[in-house]
Order: sequence, then structure tokens, then C-alpha cells
Amino acid sequence: MPELPPIDSTYLVNFLVELLKTPSPTGFTSAGIECVERALAGFSSLTLAHTLKGALTASWSGQKDDHPRALTAHVDTLGAMVKEIKPNGRLKLSQIGGYPWNTIEGEGCQVFTAGGKTVRGSILLAKASAHVYGAQVSDTRRDGETLEVRLDALTTNAVETRDLGIEVGDFVSFDPRLEVTQNFIRSRHLDDKACVACLVSAVKTLADAGLQPLQKTHFLISNYEEVGHGAAAGIPPEVTELLAVDMAAVGEGQNSDEFHATLCVKDSGGPYHHGLSQFLRGLADAAGIPYKVDIYPFYGSDGEAFWRAGGDVALALIGPGVDASHNYERTHLEALLATTRWIVAYLLSDNNTPKSPPKG
Ligand SMILES: [Zn+2]
Repeated sequence: MPELPPIDSTYLVNFLVELLKTPSPTGFTSAGIECVERALAGFSSLTLAHTLKGALTASWSGQKDDHPRALTAHVDTLGAMVKEIKPNGRLKLSQIGGYPWNTIEGEGCQVFTAGGKTVRGSILLAKASAHVYGAQVSDTRRDGETLEVRLDALTTNAVETRDLGIEVGDFVSFDPRLEVTQNFIRSRHLDDKACVACLVSAVKTLADAGLQPLQKTHFLISNYEEVGHGAAAGIPPEVTELLAVDMAAVGEGQNSDEFHATLCVKDSGGPYHHGLSQFLRGLADAAGIPYKVDIYPFYGSDGEAFWRAGGDVALALIGPGVDASHNYERTHLEALLATTRWIVAYLLSDNNTPKSPPKG
């Protein structure tokens, strides 16, 4: 394989930072989708469109179209909705996506009212003061009953909170608390904005080098992954291979780390497609991309959402190692560059499944 074109790491990090700063909890993702759309609109060879569900699609004609491909990453993140306005004017939350309640304690947040206003606040134990509640503060189980949103607004009762425009069903986003230090990116929502940034950077890498994908390629920036059905729609039926790009799970006993990309061969949904996984290993080996192979114990991907929806494709999953996932996450530029290079190598490669007949 010829040398891969160089990746603009400054662009990659800057775009990731912009996307991380754009709130997009599942169900309320239009700002995140628009952020990606603005970036992809700069590449004239892409044809952009929206699905009715609100996802963004981009298509790129390849040198060949006998085995069209798709790649997907998701822009939606964990978040919450206002479940109840309490008599003291504070809010109870209903979770969007799966995360332990204690991981959002102390975080700043925004409430998006139906009227288009934004109200700042923070998530705390209802009995938070150590001087008032003593040992209860550490002994209390964190859940939807014991945590509340303290609004940065003048309200002491439900009527005053409703006067702010807040109502049950309003979306709530958690502050990313983003910091970039020594090429570490520490932030909430690296799952999966890190991978969206890798996809966009891969497109830019090819475009800057005056290249196009070898096969016709569709991109799906999905917006309902965290609740399990993001890529169930939005992948064109002509597609024969799907590469899901999503974070790798780092922790005790895991192969993945913050300095590599990972090929996930199995997660809670079972094994991925062996042939396509082997093909991706070969690409990484040939290009000298630092990667790990791993199994994620509590994990599902948008690729599996497509499989479950009846998608008949070879499916594989790659992504950068993310520490403390669905918590206060962190990754390193090395993992992002490895993932982006892997995507670039895939885009420039010919099809993996010569024996299967083309569809259509
Ligand atoms: Zn994810």
C-alpha cells in the first residue's frame, strides 16, 4: 500500500473541541448535526442530506461502485430531560442514555426550554451540604430521586420555575468540562464526538490530497445511538460493508488504551464480521497504524443497530481508546490519529469481499 496522506492534527483537535462544546443530547441533536454539516459542506465532492429522523448523511462517489460502503459515528450524547419540577423549584431528571447517576453529580448543566431559552444550573444531591447533612452526604445512594438540578435563576418554588419557561420534558445537557493538555483531551462526550471528528478529518485528509475513496462511500452521522437505534435507518440498501467508528472501552483487563485505536471483535451484541475485521487488521498492519484488538463487556454499537434492523452487510467496529467512558472521559491525540489513519486506509482500499456478489 502507498504511504497514507498526512493528517492535519490541528484541524482534528480544533473541530473536536468545537463539536464537544456544542450540546447534543440524544433527541436534541440539531446543533451538533449542524456543526458537522458546516464542516462537511467545505468538501465539494460530498453530497449532503438529512434523514427524516434528523441524522446527517454524506455520499462520496468512488473510483468504483461495485461494493458501496458506509461508515458511521454518532453525534448524540448522554443527557437528561426534566422529569419533574419539585415544590422547591428545583428539578428531577430522567436519564437519556445509560450512565451511573453518580457520574453527573457536581456537573454544570443547561436546561433548554420549549420557548427556546437556556437556563444554567448544576446537578447536586438534594441533601448536599456537609454542614447540614453530615454523613448522609456520603451515605446517600445517587439516583433520580436523590439528585436534583439547582437552577442559577431566582426561584424557590414550582410556579417561579415554570415562569422561567421550564417544563417537564425540557432537554438537559451536561457541561463537557473540556480541557486539552499535553495532547490529552479530557471531556465528557468523547463518546462519540471523538470519532465524528476522526471521520471528518479523514474526509479532509483525502480531499487535501486530491484523492477520492476507492469505493463509493456513504457516511452516516447518527443521532440516536445512545438509546440503541441510531443507525437502524440511514444506511442505503446498496451498501455491502459498514464500518462503525465508536470509542474503545479502556479499563482493568482491557487491551484498549488512550494511545491506540482498537478493533472491537465482540461486544454485548456478539462477534463482529470476521472477514471485515481481518481485512482491517491487514490494513493497519500494512500502514503501521498502532492498534489493539479487544472485547467490550457492556457495549453495543450503531452497527449492531443496523444489523438488528435487518441490514445485510459485513460489519466491523474501530475507534480510539477512551478512558472512563460514560463518565468524565479522556483520550489522547495518538488514539485519534491512529483511528483517522485507519479510516483513511480503509477509504483508499479496495473491497474486502470479492466473493460475495454485488447487490442490486
Ligand atoms: Zn458511542
